[in-house]
Amino acid sequence: MVPAEVELSFGVRGAAQPAVVVEIADGRAVAFRGRIDRVDRAPDGTHLLVLDYKSGSRNPYRGLTTDPVKRGRALQLPVYGIAAQQRFGAASVAGYYWFATERWSYEREGFPLGERELATFRHALVVIIEGIERGLFPARPGERRNDGFENCQICPYDRVCPRDRSRAWQRKRRAPELRDFLDLAEPED
Ligand code: SF4
Repeated sequence: MVPAEVELSFGVRGAAQPAVVVEIADGRAVAFRGRIDRVDRAPDGTHLLVLDYKSGSRNPYRGLTTDPVKRGRALQLPVYGIAAQQRFGAASVAGYYWFATERWSYEREGFPLGERELATFRHALVVIIEGIERGLFPARPGERRNDGFENCQICPYDRVCPRDRSRAWQRKRRAPELRDFLDLAEPED
């Protein structure tokens, strides 16, 4: 594999490549734009490697081979994989977050983008889009940590969200309207 392109933009103003359009169901589609840090390509053009450089912690990205979308919170690699395939037309593509620092030992987390990963990605999209269409925006803070709730770190509503938000979520999470979201975000182990 050799580097083929860096900062490959798609769907953004001035980019040569159009948005990635993913069909989900009933003729509906979702368009994504973005910029890929790096795409490597096999000399015969059959394989691609998408790399997204990360300078932060590797921990939130562990387990991608088991759950390639991290319960709906990591959609980046499938989108990038599709964008790279559209650009180069290769038969196969793999995508990885590359933790390119000594602290994280230059390790990578990711997967080859196959049928299973694409199906998981599309399912997560359907749940998210249908939730938005139905007006379902449950306040879900996640786990309490030393520095606050997991999901509230950069949320602009942090100051107005109730202090007992965790208990509020526990009361709401069994609502029938949230069943699909709950299956995605908090599946039974
Ligand atoms: S502050 Fe409230 S709305 Fe924002 S992420 Fe936390 S629970 Fe959700």
